[in-house]
Amino acid sequence: MRDTVHPEFLWRDPDPKPAYDVVIVGGGGHGLATAYYLAKNHGITNVAVLEKGWLAGGNMARNTTIIRSNYLWDESAGIYEHSLKLWEGLSAELEYDLHFSQRGVLNLAHTLADVREGMRRVNANRLNGVDAEWLDADEVKKFCPIINTSPDVRYPVLGGTLQRRGGIAKHDHVAWAFARKADELGVDLIQNCEVTGFDIAGGKVRGVHTSRGRIAAGRVALAAAGHTSVLAARAGIRLPLQSHPLQALVSELLEPVLDCVVMSNAVHVYVSQAHKGELVMGAGIDHYNSYGQRGSFHIIEGQMGAALELFPIFERVRVLRTWAGIVDVSPDASPIIGRTPVENLYINAGWGTGGFKATPGSGWVYADTIANERPHPLAEPFALERFTTGALIDEHGAAAVAH
Ligand SMILES: Cc1cc2nc3c(=O)[nH]c(=O)nc-3n(C[C@H](O)[C@H](O)[C@H](O)COP(=O)(O)OP(=O)(O)OC[C@H]3O[C@@H](n4cnc5c(N)ncnc54)[C@H](O)[C@@H]3O)c2cc1C
Repeated sequence: MRDTVHPEFLWRDPDPKPAYDVVIVGGGGHGLATAYYLAKNHGITNVAVLEKGWLAGGNMARNTTIIRSNYLWDESAGIYEHSLKLWEGLSAELEYDLHFSQRGVLNLAHTLADVREGMRRVNANRLNGVDAEWLDADEVKKFCPIINTSPDVRYPVLGGTLQRRGGIAKHDHVAWAFARKADELGVDLIQNCEVTGFDIAGGKVRGVHTSRGRIAAGRVALAAAGHTSVLAARAGIRLPLQSHPLQALVSELLEPVLDCVVMSNAVHVYVSQAHKGELVMGAGIDHYNSYGQRGSFHIIEGQMGAALELFPIFERVRVLRTWAGIVDVSPDASPIIGRTPVENLYINAGWGTGGFKATPGSGWVYADTIANERPHPLAEPFALERFTTGALIDEHGAAAVAH
């Protein structure tokens, strides 16, 4: 236990108190951002973030850090653009260099269907005030000269969409920055504390059971990404979520060679170059359900094949590390934010393969939803009820496995 912040540490290490106004389950980016905005925007500071492992040991520091807001539907544009605007001031606000780099995100089109879908998305984005451009194959080559735009490859590049305000950030810095600020505002960040069940009486959640004892809570907010359906089942709620491994990898360190983010849904690869120099690449999901943070080699093999066709220049680059996170995929590839059938139990899940970019926006609207006990207007369309009303927000085109 550390009740004061030692200069070597960014936050305290308190023991759990017997009761909190709000208990957040999950110390990833979304849980930490929610805690910060609860304290900062709503003055609710009697809050604990309970994390079964260590802060950001889940998807938060396993993702490929792509940030963009060029989603198709109005509801998605609303929440992701809100998030992107927060990113634009976040390093200053959190007083931490998040290495946020708006270097442009290019989504390649390889088929006529891709082209039509890409152009449609550019138009939809512009109508929503989201910056978007269509590039033809020559313009793609000019923007990113190392892409192979030759017409005689398996999936030739026919063009692409570009969001210049999109980019990357350093994910662990983002987690630590939110954690430090939340801690400063009085939030207890409690690691090695697994939530194993819920105290529910009269249809209302009253607290949580944890590996470190029972903790009473006025409100409980799930932010457990790939483990949300398992947790919700312990509260008697069956969620429309599937948990899958999603893999990524980094190369050895290289001189600067790629100054934008390139994604291709059709061939399933996305790549950027981190500030330190490694190429950061991601693949499609492993299609089976799993909670092991590792995936199958054939996915990486397919991804490397696709990457080398697009970037023959990487042929001799060595892979340094591969890993996986567990992503929570919803039927319409959109998140679930809001209330649950259990009173005072809230859910923020289903971000699947693309929730890193949403970290500040998600934390903002989730905190507002919890504080005011009603959905934030940007969160309202993402309520759990949409799976029974049928008001789905199908972002498979914009989300799919890509980020
Ligand atoms: C390989 C990979 C690449 C990705 N690339 C991108 C990308 O480029 N751009 C993008 O926008 N998104 C990307 N994502 C998705 C993004 O990482 C997630 O959507 C997002 O991180 C989920 O929110 P989180 O950070 O809160 O999740 P997590 O960091 O997973 O946080 C959830 C936490 O809950 C904890 N937990 C679970 N069960 C319990 C329990 N019972 N008790 C206590 N704690 C519990 C876990 O230990 C975990 O720390 C990627 C994901 C992966 C795996």
